[in-house]
Amino acid sequence: MKIATVLRNDDYTREVEQALKDKLRATKSPCEFVSGPDEHPDMVLSIGGDGTLLEAVHQYGIEPAYVGIHTGHLGFYADWRPDELDEFVERLVQQAEPAIVEYPIVECRITMRDGQVFDKWALNELVLRNASLSTLVACVYINGDELETFRGDGLIVSSPSGSTAYNKAVDGAIVHPSIEAIQLSEIASINNQAYRTINSSLVLPKHHEVELIVMNPEIMIGLDREQAIWKDVRSIACRVGQEKVKFARFKRLTFWSRVRNSFIKG
Ligand code: NAP
Ligand code: MN
Repeated sequence: MKIATVLRNDDYTREVEQALKDKLRATKSPCEFVSGPDEHPDMVLSIGGDGTLLEAVHQYGIEPAYVGIHTGHLGFYADWRPDELDEFVERLVQQAEPAIVEYPIVECRITMRDGQVFDKWALNELVLRNASLSTLVACVYINGDELETFRGDGLIVSSPSGSTAYNKAVDGAIVHPSIEAIQLSEIASINNQAYRTINSSLVLPKHHEVELIVMNPEIMIGLDREQAIWKDVRSIACRVGQEKVKFARFKRLTFWSRVRNSFIKG
């Protein structure tokens, strides 16, 4: 089995990686460490936080299975603590075929005013904001039908596993990752006598499409950790992705126990 690691940039994380490699080599199991997507690893170990895992999936894509080891607090994408490395290595060596869970992604098509098209995806979410602090104006269409003209700070289209991140901070619902859906949530919408939005998060099933027609000449688009200013975007269409990100589960840790551990009682 070919394994790659993606690390948060700190000394403790590098120590954990070294300890893990030493322990795995000591087992003499046929594991090989590789160092880039070109070497097509079967498994990618993200060591750090949820942000590190997001970085890993954008670096290695949807091919490999991912495992998260956290070197900060318990994460949504990370199952293992550094003090559990022995147990993790034991299971990694013993379980040739671990349980795989798959998380849906958000697929987005960005269409420019000149017709150029860019296809992107996010594991957590797409964020649309104005490039400056003034109001974002975007017409929201669902499956080709107009819903509203949104005015406010921004819009988030999150995946189920991303629903506990930025989406939650704007009062979006937490969606179990077995539900193939995307969620559209508002960031500080303007609602008064002149302007109106639905003012609730919307959960859309597979094959539904939310299209955001952009009125501002310059916008900020965030895709997980990446953010960039875009000029002359006509629209952003989002739907549940065709493909999913795979996680290798060497221990049972339910989504709802992650919710409790992260938000209620760690
Ligand atoms: P960051 O500033 O470290 O992330 C903010 C927090 O979100 C961190 O505690 C991070 O965990 C956590 N997080 C990331 N994905 C999560 C998930 N799926 N469920 C629950 N918590 C999650 O930045 P980052 O590490 O690069 O992460 C990027 C993400 O930050 C974005 O995708 C967005 O969801 C989130 N974000 C949140 C807000 C907000 O809540 N107001 C604003 C901007 C961005 P770790 O510390 O383990 O990395
Ligand atoms: Mn982070």
